[in-house]
Parts: sequence; structure tokens; C-alpha cells
Amino acid sequence: NLRPMLEAYLREAAPVLQAKRLMNSLRESSLVDAMTGLKNRRFLEEYAETLISQCKRRNVPMTLLMMDLDYFKPVNDTYGHDAGDQVLRELAVLLQENVRESDLVIRYGGEEFLIVLLETDAESSLQVAEKIRAAVEKHKFKVGGTTLSKTISAGLADYPNDGQAFWQVLKFADVSLYAAKEGGRNQVIRFHKELWSEDGDY
Ligand code: GH3
Ligand code: MG
Ligand code: MG
Repeated sequence: NLRPMLEAYLREAAPVLQAKRLMNSLRESSLVDAMTGLKNRRFLEEYAETLISQCKRRNVPMTLLMMDLDYFKPVNDTYGHDAGDQVLRELAVLLQENVRESDLVIRYGGEEFLIVLLETDAESSLQVAEKIRAAVEKHKFKVGGTTLSKTISAGLADYPNDGQAFWQVLKFADVSLYAAKEGGRNQVIRFHKELWSEDGDY
């Protein structure tokens, strides 16, 4: 009769199994991107509304800076996926180094990053964005025994001037990023209304 043995085993193993399950769910629900150590999109989804309501209550502005690496696909194609990952990790460090501790650097998608600049208006945000763009341009990314230069394009929009809702400001930052790409890349574009009305189909 195996039953007593089995029961004893389950009794002993249960806490371990529970701890394991808990660890897994914590990892899965983690708000941090494992590869870069930046906050992830899930973090953004959980905190977007809180961020906006804090800005409202304290009557302070906030800028969203959406960025995307220019011609990143060729890095993977030429040097391999690991080299691409390395570029993303180095970029994450660069971004973090160029903003304040209180700003939020988020890995929004594969090679797309969002920075939430708190208590920063559009003018100073533009300077921060430009500083980041220049820092990336002059950085030498180390991949497989050689170095590589890369650039980023960026779009920015702010609360409360461009939008009152978080996702609207985010949308406008994204529209501006698209305009920066269209305009030739390696540039920062601040949102303006013409970007939206010109193409109603975003
Ligand atoms: P563009 O200037 O228009 O942004 O060109 P691009 O080549 O950067 O744009 P595209 O969207 O065509 O390519 C993005 C690439 O990013 C494709 C995908 O394989 C790569 N990528 C996304 N996430 C990761 C990742 O985590 N690691 C690596 N190595 N590559 C990734
Ligand atoms: Mg992209
Ligand atoms: Mg890209």
C-alpha cells in the first residue's frame, strides 16, 4: 500500500510546491523586464492611471517620450540575436543614465522604449530627449569584438497640453515618433496638432 507514503510525501512537498508556484507567479507578474532590468509594459499598464491622477492632484506636467532604435533589424541580421540583445541592454543603461532617478524608463516593446518624465514640461523634455538622442549617437555599442554606432528616433507629447488622458498623450508621442522616422530618423519630434489632423487614420 503506497498510500501512506504518498500522503506523507505530498504533505511534505506541498509547502515547497506552493512556494514554487508563488515564485513563478511573481516572476510572471513581475513589472520588470528581465533582459534590461527596466520597467516593462505591464508596469505601465498598472500605473498609468495613478500617474495621471497624481499629476492632476499636484498640478504638475508630465512628458511621455517614445523612442525606437533606427535600423535595428540589420543588427540582428548581421551580428546575431545575442548581439542585438546586448545593444538593447547597453541602450537601457544609456537611457537610465540620462534621466533623473524619479523618471520612469520602460521597455515598451522589443526595441521601443518609453520614458515618463515627471514634473517636466515640454520645453525641458525636449532638451532631455535631445541629450539622449546625442548620447546614443556617440555611444559605441560593443558587439562580438567590435563596436557599432546606432541612432534612435523619438517622439514626445505632454500632459496636460497635448492630452488629458494617459493613453491619448501616449498615442501622440507615438504619432510624433512615427513622424521622426518619416522625417529621416535620428531626430526628436515634439507633438503638434498637424501631425494628428493630417492623418486621421492612426
Ligand atoms: P526602423 O528604423 O524603422 O525602426 O527599423 P528597424 O529595423 O529598427 O525596425 P523593425 O521594426 O523592422 O525591426 C525591429 C527589430 O527588432 C525586429 C526584431 O527582430 C528586433 N527585436 C525586437 N525585440 C528584440 C529583442 O529582444 N532582441 C533582439 N535581438 N532583437 C529584437
Ligand atoms: Mg520598432
Ligand atoms: Mg526600430
